[in-house]
Amino acid sequence: MPVTRSISKKSRFEIFKRDSFICQYCGAHPPSITLEVDHIHPVADGGGDELDNRVTACFDCNRGKGNRRINTSCRPISGLKEQAEQIAEREEQLRGYYEILAMKKQRVDREIDIVDDIYKYFVPGYRLNDKGRISVRQFIEKLDAPTVATAMENACARWSHDTDRVFKYFCGICWNIIRERGR
Ligand SMILES: [Zn+2]
Repeated sequence: MPVTRSISKKSRFEIFKRDSFICQYCGAHPPSITLEVDHIHPVADGGGDELDNRVTACFDCNRGKGNRRINTSCRPISGLKEQAEQIAEREEQLRGYYEILAMKKQRVDREIDIVDDIYKYFVPGYRLNDKGRISVRQFIEKLDAPTVATAMENACARWSHDTDRVFKYFCGICWNIIRERGR
């Protein structure tokens, strides 16, 4: 198995971080694959080393593009030391991937809190329960936090006289936007 050595580990991991440790071609991520850095415009065709020209790719996507892979210094793994290095790198990639996932979860948790704050501000005595938070998370992932917050504001404004319906109406607004965007 060839291993690419042309890019320092530090700049490799900068690119992985930028791309959330996910293959930008097929969406694969550790631990099922090992990540590499691909030149979008091949070096052989004059592509440069600038960040814009480099992207996170899995082994298959990197190789599947034939001469589009990094081709300056590929060499087979020869010794135990290199195998150990590769295992260590794979573990580090996996840690990086989970770190990004955890950060994303924290960010979405804060965004759910904002939607919850709107809800309890307009509808005193009401708060999102666990099921409600799961729904809001799903909407934030399908849409984005500002859109979902606005949907909650609109639902609260529309149904302030009938508080039991606010959350249902909020879900309706979000699903409508998802359907409209899906067209
Ligand atoms: Zn891939």
